[in-house]
Amino acid sequence: MSPNGAPQVDVDVIIVGAGVSGIGAATRLARELPSKSFVMVDARDNIGGTWDLMRFPGIRSDSDLITYGFSYKPWTHEQAIAPGPAILDYLREAVVEYDLASKLRLGRRVLTADWSSADARWTVSMLNTATDEVETLTARWVFSATGYYDHAAGYRPTFPGEEDFAGRIVHPQEWPADLDYTGKRVVIIGSGATALTLVPAMAGTAAHVTMLQRSPSYVIPMPSQDLVFCGLKKFLPTQRAFRIARRANILRLRAIIGLSRTHPEKTRRLIRWVNKRSLPEGFDVDTHFKPAYKPWDERMCLVPDGDFFKSVKAGSASVVTDHIRRFTRDGIELESGQVLPADLVVTATGMNLLPFGAIGATVDGRPVDWSETVTFKSMLLSGVPNFVYAFGYTNNSWTLKVDLVTDHWCRLLKHMDAQGFDTVVPEIADPAMGRRMFIEDLSSGYIKRGIAAFPRQGVDGPWTAEMTYATDVERLQRGPVADPALVFGTMKLLQEVDAR
Ligand SMILES: Cc1cc2nc3c(=O)[nH]c(=O)nc-3n(C[C@H](O)[C@H](O)[C@H](O)COP(=O)(O)OP(=O)(O)OC[C@H]3O[C@@H](n4cnc5c(N)ncnc54)[C@H](O)[C@@H]3O)c2cc1C
Repeated sequence: MSPNGAPQVDVDVIIVGAGVSGIGAATRLARELPSKSFVMVDARDNIGGTWDLMRFPGIRSDSDLITYGFSYKPWTHEQAIAPGPAILDYLREAVVEYDLASKLRLGRRVLTADWSSADARWTVSMLNTATDEVETLTARWVFSATGYYDHAAGYRPTFPGEEDFAGRIVHPQEWPADLDYTGKRVVIIGSGATALTLVPAMAGTAAHVTMLQRSPSYVIPMPSQDLVFCGLKKFLPTQRAFRIARRANILRLRAIIGLSRTHPEKTRRLIRWVNKRSLPEGFDVDTHFKPAYKPWDERMCLVPDGDFFKSVKAGSASVVTDHIRRFTRDGIELESGQVLPADLVVTATGMNLLPFGAIGATVDGRPVDWSETVTFKSMLLSGVPNFVYAFGYTNNSWTLKVDLVTDHWCRLLKHMDAQGFDTVVPEIADPAMGRRMFIEDLSSGYIKRGIAAFPRQGVDGPWTAEMTYATDVERLQRGPVADPALVFGTMKLLQEVDAR
């Protein structure tokens, strides 16, 4: 029995997911509440999540690592827009620094999580992918750091005539390790961050790379080095230079998004001017780089040092904006009648959203339908006790949000310990409360396709899912943890009530 009379558990917390969010949760817990016991499980055999899964050429962030890295672990490399392997190294370093190796249970896919109010604990079942055996663990808390998309397979529409194509078709999420594209004619279908990363990485080695897009995105060059950090580092200690640079980057992005929202036409014209300067003389900027949507209605694509534009300028890559009619034996025929010859087609068509790693959860035997829950402060869920999740920003560094969530959660745990509470659950007082989709201000295809399966948000108070860092700082970092919507419980109280 625990001091409160609750039945014992194997660990205080099970963190599901050992990507940047899971490692963020683990390092925060180790720093703030070293007496809490926890394990971090992941279906993969390595840590790193996205940064381990994605192996396509050129894989890199498009956020600066000064804001993407943990607030308490400075990113010290010269390159702030970092290659995937460097991000993995940073995460491995964090595992060593915080002594997390003994907490890792890799090769474990969590299948179910069952909450028992009588025992104030979760029973989590997981498949050991090496032995095919199901193991169980009990915990006071589940921290879901499962990311937002299905690692098993990317989004891959089928195209007419694919079976006639003599070349190879690959999805970036399942990049074959032995794929040799030297001297090949490559067509990359897509216009998002992945396509824009692949183009310069493959150009030069391939005979030619064509990016084929249905519609344009906003593409903006940015320096790969963080000039503020590199400048400050010369005369300030690294930690201090990092803190100032992080703050500066947060404010800069906030100003850019703010300006884009208040002055969309001016922002458009500015981006067009930058694009025109980056592209060859006479390039049709309006056809290929003038989206129909407003800046930041979808995430902007940032390209480090304009590498994408350099490939187009050098003639090793080109952009085609058109629709696919069909695949032929030798390439792709477009609606315009143009034919793109290809030996290799890369479908950079996106991902499939997946809430909470497909974990089947129950609360006291009642199955949880995630889409019927409502988010509380973008970290807890209505009606689901002792369950916290990390879902980062879609318009900023993902991890800025995770940092605030783990901070608030640790404060909540300290509050509960001080008051002798074992359980906490957000409860909606007014069943008629309005509900909205979890993400509303982003119209990207992958969001539209999959967001309905995610929790809802309410219309005000703690029930909104904020996507603005400044608002979240007020709510999660500065705001109190106690809230009228939170129902706290203790086993001791329950047992006394039962005894009476
Ligand atoms: C190519 C690419 C580039 C990106 N670049 C940026 C960027 O520059 N900036 C940015 O902010 N965001 C970027 N993102 C978004 C990125 O996914 C997030 O930044 C971040 O990596 C998400 O981390 P995570 O730990 O929450 O999830 P993930 O990285 O997806 O990791 C989740 C982990 O949970 C595990 N898991 C899931 N379900 C289960 C289960 N049932 N049982 C056990 N384990 C489970 C998975 O195996 C995985 O390891 C990028 C995404 C991609 C695909």
